[in-house]
Amino acid sequence: MIPYGRQDITEADLAAVRDVLLSDFITQGPAIAGFEAELAAYCGARHGIAMNSATSALHVAYMALDLGPGDVLWTSPNTFVATSNAALYCGAEVDFIDIDPDTYNLSLDLLEARLAEAEIAGRLPRIVAPVHFAGQSCDMERLGALKAKYGFAVVEDASHAVGGRYRDRPVGNCAWSDITIFSFHPVKIITTAEGGMAMTNDDELAARMAMLRTHGITRDPDRMRGESDGPWYYQQTMLGYNYRITDMQAALGRSQLTRLDAYIDARHACREVYDRELADLPLKLPYQAPYQRSGLHLYPVLVQDEAPLDRKTAFTRLRELGIGVNVLYVPVYLQPWYQDLGFKPGHCPNAEDYYNRMITIPMYATLSETDQTTVITTLHEVLGG
Ligand SMILES: *Cc1c(COP(=O)(O)O)cnc(C)c1O
Repeated sequence: MIPYGRQDITEADLAAVRDVLLSDFITQGPAIAGFEAELAAYCGARHGIAMNSATSALHVAYMALDLGPGDVLWTSPNTFVATSNAALYCGAEVDFIDIDPDTYNLSLDLLEARLAEAEIAGRLPRIVAPVHFAGQSCDMERLGALKAKYGFAVVEDASHAVGGRYRDRPVGNCAWSDITIFSFHPVKIITTAEGGMAMTNDDELAARMAMLRTHGITRDPDRMRGESDGPWYYQQTMLGYNYRITDMQAALGRSQLTRLDAYIDARHACREVYDRELADLPLKLPYQAPYQRSGLHLYPVLVQDEAPLDRKTAFTRLRELGIGVNVLYVPVYLQPWYQDLGFKPGHCPNAEDYYNRMITIPMYATLSETDQTTVITTLHEVLGG
């Protein structure tokens, strides 16, 4: 089976992890700060706070922004459940803004209309969490203007988009947001097995997130209540969690980061071949908005009405023929847990139509020419009519 995504582990990665294992610190040592500093420098952000997953990073980001009971967070329905689950962890409510039918990202036209209504109703969201689906950045400058007008915070879920760019800046630089989150799960662009990072330019948010990932504890006398008892002393001043990443993982992340640009270039080379070789099939190929350069986590294709097979049949045939296709995402609010919260089918028709048609085909930096040719030939066999 040719998978839809996979990690690339080199000898240099193995050596980096081995060095940490044989060092004094296998967790809470210098590799973590090194990884944070290097990814922050790459993104042009002031701070990076590494955690054991992007889910943890989302939770900590929302907590640092004081999301709580009585607040609402808005996000895209076309995302992994973690983006909205993390808001529910905070006791907040969530709602979903339908997607744009071309970018598959949260529609800023719909967002703008909903904000105007919410202002009148006195029910503006506290946080809007755009998701850079498949690696394609949302139009952040436009979102930033809405943020300035309505006063909500912005947390970018850039789990798919590390290494991507928006206008002339790397995703993660937080020029139009408070915090940006990355995931380093193995199917994503670079990996630490499990892991994530929160980027921010705000010193106070960075300090709060660093504390929240480790029980709400600080060793910094300036952040303590009253005097420090002495050099051994730490204080817990908020309720945090153990969301720490290990030095082994951070070393892997640093080593992977040195290949990030090469990975993105390789993904774009794959995309160009797919764009050319699949153009004659009854599939809607991914649109690339001109204001960004995608991280290309995924290559989603949408089965059109004139196709000889429906999506489910095409998907099943492709799997039988050894192509590890996948479908991402079931609109979050259609999950039974969310249905129990009161969401109804039909809430975001664009996301539902997208979900009913989409198949994501193999896309990763080390996808070989031979394997890519197999994918293309098989797609023609199944959908060529
Ligand atoms: C993978 C993913 C997450 C969760 O990442 P983890 O590191 O597995 O916690 C969150 N949001 C999106 C959009 C993702 O793709």
